[in-house]
Amino acid sequence: MRWQSQQLDAPTDALPGLARIHDLVRTTRTPEFAGMTFYEVRAKSALNRVPGHVPGTPYRWTINPYRGCSHACVYCFARPTHRFLEFDDPAAFDADVVVKVNLAEVLRAELHRRSWRREPVALGTNTDPYQRAEGRYRLMPDVLSALADSGTPISLLTKGSLLRRDLSLLAQAAERVPVDLAMSVAVLDDDLQQRVEPGTPSATARLATVRAARDAGLECGVFLMPVLPYLTDSVEHLGRALDAIAAARASYVVWTALYLKPGVKAWWVSWLQRERPDLVARYARLYAEGAYAPKAYRRWLADRIEPLLAERGLVRGAVDSATGTVRSRSTGIVRAVAAGGQPTLF
Ligand code: SF4
Repeated sequence: MRWQSQQLDAPTDALPGLARIHDLVRTTRTPEFAGMTFYEVRAKSALNRVPGHVPGTPYRWTINPYRGCSHACVYCFARPTHRFLEFDDPAAFDADVVVKVNLAEVLRAELHRRSWRREPVALGTNTDPYQRAEGRYRLMPDVLSALADSGTPISLLTKGSLLRRDLSLLAQAAERVPVDLAMSVAVLDDDLQQRVEPGTPSATARLATVRAARDAGLECGVFLMPVLPYLTDSVEHLGRALDAIAAARASYVVWTALYLKPGVKAWWVSWLQRERPDLVARYARLYAEGAYAPKAYRRWLADRIEPLLAERGLVRGAVDSATGTVRSRSTGIVRAVAAGGQPTLF
């Protein structure tokens, strides 16, 4: 990986031979982030147009303050995207994080363009905006303010309990634009969670953040996903997870089974070989046909989980069939809310 030849804190013109040399400000390592390197870059753009976007479906636009993610989820489907930055080792996704230090400045300029139509913008679709680096760089407050100031609806998905820092800002933004918040919580077993998502806050901390968001007057759903076949799909685990989600007063729940696209499947299998060799053959059979668990498994999982949701007064958020993501308040589409309330039209 060519970036690794760079010297720490080196000036831009001292980094020969790099294709993206003009974007790089410096590389940084600090004791609070042992084992990590931050590549601070000056981004040329902030709003990313989603390639292959289907008209009428959520999120034509996304923002990624960071590339790479210290949450380090083994199943992360964004991991292969680090190759585009010439990080060849898949593990670099967890430890070599690109930081767009001028993001808010660039974003404000883009939002002021006459051509900007204030379409909803999603954060957290590729890498987590509230990963640990955000505690150091504090990019999100300015991003959220810029979006709200411009009248742009915000959709935000995270695993980071650092979200709590910005809840009052989000509550203020929600008075001006639609704001859709969701917390991703896949594993309620602390030991397994630390092995599968080693850089994330605990599920308890994340659900406490959901509760804090609700207390701040914000809608906040939970993405109970991915459900990991043979690891988190037992009635006991699902029931415990949904109990905790209901106790946090989540606005809705979305779930799907594990998706293993090329590049991620190999990383997942090598984790299984280390941690759960007894499951390697079962996974090979289940995902023999491709990236998705077979329809029969997904039907079986739905039959298992839907009654558990109903028992707890939780309703599944509507999933957009084209994108596989929850239909969002920020897109103005009907979405079911927690039972006891009526389906809400935002
Ligand atoms: S938090 Fe999201 S982006 Fe970060 S590693 Fe986990 S799945 Fe990937």
